[in-house]
Amino acid sequence: MVDLKAVHKSFGSLEVLRGVDLQVGAGEVTVIIGPSGSGKSTLLRTVNHLEKVDSGSVTVDGELVGYRRAGDRLYELSEREILRQRTRIGFVFQSFNLFPHLTVRQNVTEAPTSAQRRPKAEVEALAVRLLERVGLSDKIDAYPRQLSGGQQQRVAIARALALEPKVILFDEPTSALDPELVGEVLDVVKDLAVSGTTMIVVTHEIGFAREVADTVVFMDEGRIVERGTPAQVLDAPRHERTRLFLSKVL
Ligand code: ATP
Ligand code: MG
Repeated sequence: MVDLKAVHKSFGSLEVLRGVDLQVGAGEVTVIIGPSGSGKSTLLRTVNHLEKVDSGSVTVDGELVGYRRAGDRLYELSEREILRQRTRIGFVFQSFNLFPHLTVRQNVTEAPTSAQRRPKAEVEALAVRLLERVGLSDKIDAYPRQLSGGQQQRVAIARALALEPKVILFDEPTSALDPELVGEVLDVVKDLAVSGTTMIVVTHEIGFAREVADTVVFMDEGRIVERGTPAQVLDAPRHERTRLFLSKVL
């Protein structure tokens, strides 16, 4: 479903991604862990072309992200085409990023009606179902400022789901939350995992990784150092750098 090949990315002279290969199959959950500055967010952002790769390729559901191939040359897609691709690659940020002037319902229905031009009645019904799924039926006409961080993040997840994405990318979805609100958001992500949603999740929640991940990837200094099942990477890491990192977060 997601296929990254030899992805390189630098910011000026700083090489942040140094040849990353990553495959995530349909219905699979990959959790990325690693120290601050190791390139996790940058990697996630290349998957929906929020960052352009310097070399290598990103493919989602068989479609090259950000580029069109013509013969042996690549042409960057137009802004409009990139936006179209992005609607099918959900992104949930650490900081929720809801539209503050729209209600919960409008936050969920906005993109499917405007960007995907789906019928309003269908999208409204979908929003009601999705908000029920994330446990927010009673907040449907509230504004983001009236919600807790955990509730806002659950709206952000419902909003991503409304676009019927092929994959959802989560960048530390719980790290801006008070500790007592982390569980309610992780429970929603777990529910998605059980129902077969393809996801890549950057998180420091090791317990969550152990429970939900099909694959855990440990990144350091722009490279994937180690990958495997949660048992392999979290309980029996082969690399010293992985052990050192885990000793700090566990
Ligand atoms: P954290 O755990 O703190 O979120 P991370 O693993 O997500 O870290 P990235 O945000 O991908 O790390 O950043 C990797 C490196 O790239 C860092 O040194 C960061 O300062 C640098 N970097 C990221 N984005 C940019 C940018 N737009 N311009 C310049 N440098 C950047
Ligand atoms: Mg980050």
